[in-house]
Amino acid sequence: MSHKPLLGCIADDFTGATDLAGMLVKAGMRTVQMIGVPIDGQQGPIAEDVDAIVIALKSRTIPAAEAVNASLAALAWLTDAGCKQFYFKYCSTFDSTDRGNIGPVADALMTAIGTRFTIACPAFPENGRTIFKGHLFVGDLLLSDSGMRHHPLTPMTDANLVRVLQRQTHRKVGLIPHDVVSAGPNAMRRKMAALQAEGIEIAVVDAIDNQALMTIGAACADLPLLTAGSGVALGLPQNFTGLTTGGADRLPATRGMRAVISGSCSSATQEQVAVAIASGMPAFTVDPLRLAAGDKLVEQALAWAEPLLARGPVLVTATAAPDQVKRIQDAIGTERAGQLVEQALAEIARGLVAAGVRQFVVAGGETSGAVVSALGVSGLVIGPQIDPGVPWTASLGSDDDARLALALKSGNFGSKDFFTKAWDLLQ
Ligand code: ADP
Repeated sequence: MSHKPLLGCIADDFTGATDLAGMLVKAGMRTVQMIGVPIDGQQGPIAEDVDAIVIALKSRTIPAAEAVNASLAALAWLTDAGCKQFYFKYCSTFDSTDRGNIGPVADALMTAIGTRFTIACPAFPENGRTIFKGHLFVGDLLLSDSGMRHHPLTPMTDANLVRVLQRQTHRKVGLIPHDVVSAGPNAMRRKMAALQAEGIEIAVVDAIDNQALMTIGAACADLPLLTAGSGVALGLPQNFTGLTTGGADRLPATRGMRAVISGSCSSATQEQVAVAIASGMPAFTVDPLRLAAGDKLVEQALAWAEPLLARGPVLVTATAAPDQVKRIQDAIGTERAGQLVEQALAEIARGLVAAGVRQFVVAGGETSGAVVSALGVSGLVIGPQIDPGVPWTASLGSDDDARLALALKSGNFGSKDFFTKAWDLLQ
């Protein structure tokens, strides 16, 4: 039986998309994450039955007009894929400026979908993001007193989300307060109708706990568009009971050898590299200074790895301690060092696939982007969680021999033994 996706999501950055996808899987929806808007012809039909599709954009801090265009392209693709309800996902600290991009993108999506009402709710109570009387709190602090006031790109100096959003849109912004949300879905639905009668088109919704997220999910079952952080996703799958495919975190099998690619210098990654080496995992170091000097490290790494792969995972690492990174950056420049490492690790990953590797742990956000792009991965099926925020994923495509298992770990995530324990979750 063919199964159309129910929920189509547009996320304004990559890790935010992964966060949302993980949330949906946890709540029972089988979810695929696409890396950018799929280009016609390059992406075949999504092979697996899926309940939700999340398109990861990089639209948080680009000019508003570009963010709008990218979001509308994502919406058009999701509509074609058959999605019934849409979700615009932004950061739980509402990262934006008076120019956008939350307001302009929400506006454009509403117009394209043809809806006159949506909500705005970045709350994620489990991570300390709560909204009360329209004010966003980060832990015990108002957003405007939190570290977010110093953010280099999107400084948040006003905690009143009604005001913040109103500066970004011509549509009238209102509030659904805590007492209404705590009275349950029916009370919230009545309030939404009353606000619409007043001409309000976007309602910020108070949410101080997971119960509020469940109420919001139930009350918004029939809204064509929601705008929110990843928290609200907790309350949506309940609306699709009986329609989802089940076994939300199952992954198609992968067959092949294993490698860890580490291009993150974050402290958690440094420890993970040390623990993996101490446990006996063979390691090859990619030194940016040698890359800059023209040494053929890609070829050397691949020649080193080939005879070892049959015995278990190998580790290719550029991870270095802060003083060493500083020395390298002073010598060849921060950007050049980063690019040389990313490019070398991506080429090594491609060579490892040619040598038969099909299961990768990759450490580092930028590093993951470079590797995934070099391997031609257009989308990921989201599987079981290894540690909070890091699931196993499988590359899209129906060819069993070509499929890759990928654990894409952002720098500071994961326990010390991440590089050795992650494999236990794969068959
Ligand atoms: P994280 O998620 O920890 O921030 P990223 O992969 O996003 O990791 O970023 C790490 C950056 O540092 C990448 O651009 C990578 O190429 C670069 N890098 C990795 N190792 C070194 C090194 N030894 N010296 C300088 N830069 C490095």
